[in-house]
Amino acid sequence: MQLTRKGLWAGLINEFREHLPEISDDAITTLHEGNTPLIEMVNLRDIFGAIRVLFKFEGLNPTGSFKDRGMTFAVSKAREEGAKAVICASTGNTSASAAAYAARAGMKAYVLVPDGQIALGKLSQAMMHGALVLQIKGNFDEALEIVRKISEERPVTLVNSVNPYRIEGQKTAAFEVVEHLGYAPTYHFLPVGNAGNITAYWKGYKEYKAKGMISNLPKMMGFQAEGAAPIVLGHPVEDPQTIATAIKIGNPASWAGALAARDESGGFIGSVTDDEIIEAYKLVASREGVFCEPASAASIAGAIKMKNEGVLNDGDTIVCTLTGHGLKDPNTAINSSAKPVKIAADTKKILKLMGL
Ligand SMILES: *Cc1c(COP(=O)(O)O)cnc(C)c1O
Repeated sequence: MQLTRKGLWAGLINEFREHLPEISDDAITTLHEGNTPLIEMVNLRDIFGAIRVLFKFEGLNPTGSFKDRGMTFAVSKAREEGAKAVICASTGNTSASAAAYAARAGMKAYVLVPDGQIALGKLSQAMMHGALVLQIKGNFDEALEIVRKISEERPVTLVNSVNPYRIEGQKTAAFEVVEHLGYAPTYHFLPVGNAGNITAYWKGYKEYKAKGMISNLPKMMGFQAEGAAPIVLGHPVEDPQTIATAIKIGNPASWAGALAARDESGGFIGSVTDDEIIEAYKLVASREGVFCEPASAASIAGAIKMKNEGVLNDGDTIVCTLTGHGLKDPNTAINSSAKPVKIAADTKKILKLMGL
């Protein structure tokens, strides 16, 4: 018998080192993030017809979201520079990831989250990894302002996506899409919150094009929640509202990057309603077996909307990034599903209910 398995995946810094800024070996802090699957849509043909749809399932990163891609690099760089602590504002996933990678690096993590608005799974991660969790009476945008100021004045490294190394790590997701598909998709759909990820994917695709690894570039399609759609509206939103807490952001830090991705690629940034988000969230879980978090489903809701508006063509290949794992937010999952049936431990009654 022949063993066909190649070496173990060494984490995205080691795997994509020639495409990343230099970093010393002993600073590399990895939980073997990256190498997430590109899952082919098989059951939603009634919606997408002859369009090929693939899900880049970022929920399978070590802490359950794409944030790990940026965090491995940001924390490694902070370590290289001798930092003893990192700080971030977060709607949840950044804090989970920062806390985990800081623990790995032997550093302290300080995380500021909006009080009462962060999904349970994410909060539990930050707590378990030993971060100092500060729940502020304010929203994400206010939290980001505070941590930016603290990091300028005190010896703590900011690891929000305004840290350029976050974007460097996150761009590797575009490399993986290309390597798994063999080419770049026609369209790439993403949820947009602080807009770091759409900025990062576009950077990644452009770099592979410049190196001759792909001949075409995808159109970048970003989707915000209707109640938190500053880029669509063209002005910051004072009090953003959406069930998709990971994209509940009124003044994105990478606004300019998102506009550049849209305009340079000939793409689009639009919005979807919370109802459309929840519908897509349930659809991909119940019919494709992929459980993502609500914010992630904004990419699919956006793709469905674009299909219905006649923007997509048969034969197009589209990739939807599913940014985080559904287990992050069990409350939304339970609230949007049919309740379990309570029944006596009686086989006859159970069979009757099953209709068998
Ligand atoms: C952070 C996050 C987003 C938003 O990404 P940005 O880079 O801020 O636009 C979307 N979905 C999930 C699950 C996230 O954690």
